[in-house]
Amino acid sequence: MNKLDANEPKMTFCHDICSIKRTDMDRTLENNDEIYMREALREAQAAARDGEIPIGAVIVSNGVIIAKAHNLTEQLQDTTAHAEMLAITSATNYLGSKYLTRCTLYVTVEPCPMCAAALCWSQIDRVVYGAADPKRGYSRFSPSLLHPKTEISAGILQDECSAIITDFFKKIR
Ligand code: ZN
Repeated sequence: MNKLDANEPKMTFCHDICSIKRTDMDRTLENNDEIYMREALREAQAAARDGEIPIGAVIVSNGVIIAKAHNLTEQLQDTTAHAEMLAITSATNYLGSKYLTRCTLYVTVEPCPMCAAALCWSQIDRVVYGAADPKRGYSRFSPSLLHPKTEISAGILQDECSAIITDFFKKIR
């Protein structure tokens, strides 16, 4: 047996292991996204109970939720009190840092241009949103509102995220 023959099966084996690991990691990431989005949905439900437009957000750092918030525009009588804005402030307070590098924001609805710009200033690593907002979502205006280094994932639990909004408006109209 020459050297090449002896090495060949090993290389194939290694390749298989690597591809299995990659698949598992992808699956874990997707599962985690759903877990954290469920927490954001819980925040949205709390907003609905308080008569606020039901949008919720959480910020995760190293697998830990460091901020939770929901829309408070009615309670604070402040049109800028969106879930994302409040979550950013809460997370930066927690970290004692104005930047949110190595953090992920989960929000039930696509951020508006104001929140996208605020997320850009925060230099957040990743933004994950549920339902798209064709009327007021940032991507309708300019996808470049977010930081060029920010990774974006859309459509996580989108049906549940949009149903809570639809139900809310059905009830108040
Ligand atoms: Zn917003």
